[in-house]
Amino acid sequence: MELIKIVKLLDGQPSATRRALITEHLSAFGVRYAEQPYATGTNLVVDLGRATNKIGVGTHFDRVPNSAGANDNGSAVAVGLDIIRRHQQARSAAGVRVFFFDEEETGLLGSRAYVAQHGVQDLKGLLNLELVGMGDRFALWPVEATRRGPLLQAFEAVAQHQRVSCHRFDQIVTNTADHVPFRQAGLPDAFTLTVIASQDIATAQAYYQALAQQADAGQLMNILAQAPLFRHYHQPTDTYEKLSEATLRMAAAAVWETILAAQ
Ligand SMILES: [Zn+2]
Repeated sequence: MELIKIVKLLDGQPSATRRALITEHLSAFGVRYAEQPYATGTNLVVDLGRATNKIGVGTHFDRVPNSAGANDNGSAVAVGLDIIRRHQQARSAAGVRVFFFDEEETGLLGSRAYVAQHGVQDLKGLLNLELVGMGDRFALWPVEATRRGPLLQAFEAVAQHQRVSCHRFDQIVTNTADHVPFRQAGLPDAFTLTVIASQDIATAQAYYQALAQQADAGQLMNILAQAPLFRHYHQPTDTYEKLSEATLRMAAAAVWETILAAQ
């Protein structure tokens, strides 16, 4: 199954359709899932393996209304589905909980609702996925240089083993993603993975320099437009053809190996 084809199916669809496409794939895999409705949306949660303490893998299926939502965050949904498929295929006993959150873009409403209802006691950590379909290296955020954690360090070791550059960022233009409610609830080993290109790093440095020099919003936008990652971010042009199957597979392989290493 090509992951980019899953992203293509999701592109531009309303949330309810995107959620239905995910459940169709889960049913085709023969995997049980839980729907978690809350006031304004519905999350999907898939529990795998026998361990009571699970490693969380986070994705969100909603998109900003003016964007097709391919890299943000159809890419993560496709990788999340691939993790489930790999688990099934390997008949793995590894304890994993894959989240497909609703309403990330409107204030992390889905992940906040999950944490409010279930807490974080039965999770070892959370590897949250945001924009994992473009580029050739990993960015982990918000992860300061001194931070330690079994899941974090397992991911970094896997990246090194797979010879993929892996960078820590204490911020990456935004610090907000679905890892936030988990950290706030007392799960420190929760962070977000984004796949980037070297040009994105150069642009990020220019951006923070301009920010420190109090550049105006227009100047900041111009700088961001230099970064492959942000060129299509929250834009109508965030469509599946911009993504790379090799990048999606690189992300899926690293997440899967991390799950096995962190058991
Ligand atoms: Zn997103």
